[in-house]
Amino acid sequence: MESARHEPVAGTLLEDEDPESHVGEAVDFDLFDHEDQAEPEPAAEDPAGLRAAYHLAPTLRVLRDEVDRRWPKRDRTSDGWIGDAAHRGTRSDHNPDADNGSVNALDIDRDGIDPMLVVRRCIVHPSTQYVIFDRTIWSRTRNFAAARYTGSNPHDRHLHVSVSHDRALEASTRSWGIADAVVPKLGDRVLRRGSTGSDVRELQTLAGRLGGDLAVDGDFGPRTETWVRDFQKAQRLTVDGVVGAQTLAALRAATAPAPPSAGRRPGSRTVRRGSTGEDVAFVQRFVGERRCGPATGSFDAKTESGVRWYQGMRGITVDGVVGPLTWRQMGVRVTY
Ligand SMILES: [Zn+2]
Repeated sequence: MESARHEPVAGTLLEDEDPESHVGEAVDFDLFDHEDQAEPEPAAEDPAGLRAAYHLAPTLRVLRDEVDRRWPKRDRTSDGWIGDAAHRGTRSDHNPDADNGSVNALDIDRDGIDPMLVVRRCIVHPSTQYVIFDRTIWSRTRNFAAARYTGSNPHDRHLHVSVSHDRALEASTRSWGIADAVVPKLGDRVLRRGSTGSDVRELQTLAGRLGGDLAVDGDFGPRTETWVRDFQKAQRLTVDGVVGAQTLAALRAATAPAPPSAGRRPGSRTVRRGSTGEDVAFVQRFVGERRCGPATGSFDAKTESGVRWYQGMRGITVDGVVGPLTWRQMGVRVTY
């Protein structure tokens, strides 16, 4: 569906006919072969005089629709697609293809959108040939590695997307991944009865880890609310069934996985093969990775051989067990 503001904006397009000539390196393709030009003259309303004979490439229509859906209030002043009069004598993706009238370039105003998000989505879309934005060009011929664009128009008001002239790629209806609903993460907003989304799913998953028996459906219904109230009561929080910062912090604390090496201070017990804890990690770090392996906090065979080496070096009983004597050798105060 076309709307009036999607009609071609004439006079804004004469800027990117020869992007590759402004990269400062050898170019791999020769889409354009004319001089860069200065400010364009305003063009006629119907620039090519064949309105029915040209159309924006369907893949770019998909792109534009997605940008519009994601940022419905965006500024379209610097939008455009069909080349103006000055374009016609040139080779430009803003001119209709001679064979099928497809216009394979789209300019999108930068205001009110996240232009870098659009660039990122464009350079992974199979139809894209190149993107120019803010003095930078990403071209398929360079595997979309960013390169400086030195053309006279810096493209700092809009981003330009050119797509392939391959018929299938022009006509592609593949999503550009831009309109997808923003995926909220737990903590991005306050959740309450009626909230829906992936963050509600996260909440329900955490509830499940705390013994809650909720459908993980992303729908904050009465059962989810009841669970939240019960949780708040148990945590001595304000019982309102609303997941704000405090309830979320309590949820995070309650569901944080216990670190495997928690709770054992060096010197507070004897550690040997099979022991795990922060005190084991201390031993591993003390003796060193070369002999004990990485400090995993898990007392394995390698740790044991490292301890044996250390004990032998210090002239104490070599048993591979870290008891009070070995702790003291390591300068650790023994507390048991
Ligand atoms: Zn353009």
